[in-house]
Amino acid sequence: MIALPRQPMPIQRSWFRTAGWALTGIILLGLAAFMGQLGNYLMAGVFGLFALLSSIGIGFGSYVTACPVCGKQLRGLFGLKRCSQCLSYGKVSEGQYHELAPDFLTKVPLLALPLGDRREMPPLCCACGAAAARTERLRIIRLEFAFDLDVPHCAFHTGGADLASETIAGKGKAQAPVLQVKSYAFYLACVKANYPSLAILHHFSNDSIAQSLLARHKS
Ligand SMILES: [Zn+2]
Ligand SMILES: [Zn+2]
Repeated sequence: MIALPRQPMPIQRSWFRTAGWALTGIILLGLAAFMGQLGNYLMAGVFGLFALLSSIGIGFGSYVTACPVCGKQLRGLFGLKRCSQCLSYGKVSEGQYHELAPDFLTKVPLLALPLGDRREMPPLCCACGAAAARTERLRIIRLEFAFDLDVPHCAFHTGGADLASETIAGKGKAQAPVLQVKSYAFYLACVKANYPSLAILHHFSNDSIAQSLLARHKS
């Protein structure tokens, strides 16, 4: 398999999804009007609010694209989007879908890596992607699992990561642990360390991380 440099992907409106969101909005508006008639203004307000949210669905949720890393079809392009197949993150900007740049940082730990049994941490700061100097211990306790994890940080940052859980797609209410971090460079290094089968897909990201760190040192 040849890894190609990342190109932004065009996004396309799915008319099926647009119609779905529009129908949802109309039904919610109808319910809001019905509740209003009954004098239940609280419920009318709640349904009205959801009708408003479904208009955001018409805006962003109706677009589909292909993952720039692995080619899987992606839907519901709200904010930051994780590909379920290769775990890369991307977002829509200027009408195209891009994988996040390796030096991309979030203000709060948002980039969520599903954790398997293997929980190897790369020697990078989870808040900024620079070399790590120490670790911070995080703990998660849930019905299904409980563990501690030492997450690397540089000397300047604290609180660059959180442990949380998310529902596993297609498994009802089953929860799986995720590590949420701020730095996409750290996130990608984690993907490579913990999912060797995906490492080849992220080959080019490795080079671009090195380049962007080099550029940072020069400036
Ligand atoms: Zn992908
Ligand atoms: Zn840092």
